[in-house]
Amino acid sequence: MSSIYLTDRSSLFDRLYSIAPVWLQNVGISVYGILWRQQRFGGNFPKLVAQFQERERFSFNEWREYQTRQLQALLQHANRTIRYYRELFNSLGLQSRSLEYFTPEDLPNLPLLEKETIRSNPDKFLNQEVDRRRLLIDYTSGTTGTPLPVLRSTLTNRATSAAYEARIRRWAGVNYRMSRAMIGGRIVIPPTRAKPPFWRYNLAERQLYLSAFHISPANTSNYVAALNFFRPKYLVGYASAHYFLARNAEEQGLQLYRPQAILTSSDKLTPEMRQLLQRVYGCQVFDGYSGVENCCLASECEHHRMHLSPDVGIVELVDSDGRPTPPGEMGEIVATGLLNFDQPLIRYRTGDYAILSPEPCPCGRQMPVLEELVGRLEDIVIGQDGREVIRFQGIFLGLPNVREAQIIQKTLKYFQVRLVVNAGFSEDEKRILYQRFVERLGPINLEFQLVDQIERTERGKFRAVVSHVPRAQRTSCT
Ligand SMILES: [Zn+2]
Repeated sequence: MSSIYLTDRSSLFDRLYSIAPVWLQNVGISVYGILWRQQRFGGNFPKLVAQFQERERFSFNEWREYQTRQLQALLQHANRTIRYYRELFNSLGLQSRSLEYFTPEDLPNLPLLEKETIRSNPDKFLNQEVDRRRLLIDYTSGTTGTPLPVLRSTLTNRATSAAYEARIRRWAGVNYRMSRAMIGGRIVIPPTRAKPPFWRYNLAERQLYLSAFHISPANTSNYVAALNFFRPKYLVGYASAHYFLARNAEEQGLQLYRPQAILTSSDKLTPEMRQLLQRVYGCQVFDGYSGVENCCLASECEHHRMHLSPDVGIVELVDSDGRPTPPGEMGEIVATGLLNFDQPLIRYRTGDYAILSPEPCPCGRQMPVLEELVGRLEDIVIGQDGREVIRFQGIFLGLPNVREAQIIQKTLKYFQVRLVVNAGFSEDEKRILYQRFVERLGPINLEFQLVDQIERTERGKFRAVVSHVPRAQRTSCT
């Protein structure tokens, strides 16, 4: 992560970092960590955390009132200071007077906001009253197209960090002051580097940063030794990376210390992955969801139900025509962010899909519960009848010789399965897999490819399913 006014310094930092010896890299990361820590946890951060915690006691009606007030403030501000929204509201005949009475139920009267609209004219989305050199910038990691710049102030950054602290860390029984180990998208070690160590240490945050790109059976003992040496209080980062590391450690009989919690995000955490992580580390796993855009947040409470945070964003789940989907049915997450007034995102299409639960949570919080976080459309296989969206967790269950697998859907009927397997992998297992595919999808063409490794994305993520069936073909069937 970097900020605009740190841009030059941070690219210089990245260049110096890449040629520095390991000890100096650790010092560099620590200095950078101190600067970044102040950005997030300084100023009114503790007060903001307390406010997020207090709001958890809100009744349904109090939440609605809160969201209405925040939305009205956001829309009036956008009308005053953001060119795109001023033009939009004008074209819809919405006067500033009517924005004062706007409610969350009125949101469907506004158009959905596509990433492309922002990408093609990012300046139109920026607060004209603020010096943009004072804003921090991040980029979304979309699988297609150029990344989207997301700008925000230090205050927004702190509010976002406070939401994360209150709803993700505290719910899991940990906090930002504790030491942690992270496996994430930042390249701390060049992916081509073959020699250990595969981690760096940020002294300022007592953060062990492990590379997502080097996890393999051969490297596992180096990772395990680092974790057992630093003994971070909790683990954070990609679900798949933590899973692969823990599975290798278990297979090799390597003992791991016991952290207090594991906080996963960014890719799909299956029940199988959760069980293995809990078994290997002897602690609970809490899954979470938020994007770089920070216009919504979902996190697991102590009952491991995933709640939306209504004070981070107003979330609508919609079908392909933009109509709301009822609880129990899958819809795209469309979010109106309530924290960032410098680049407001109103009815923003995240491209992620989820299902709302009709059941309240036994924890008593009146915050909406997601039954399931499905993920991105390109991560979902679609059946030949075109209607049934089929998810593939479980298809490789009970096949211990399959180490890693990636399903690639080329067309409605043609699939490739890329497998990294143990020596004992047999024709029988191929047959079982073929059968399971046919059970779920009917007669299809299935091609097996045995490979040495499955490439991670640029940010080190593992993609279990890649569907090339275009959006139009899906939506015309639903
Ligand atoms: Zn709950």
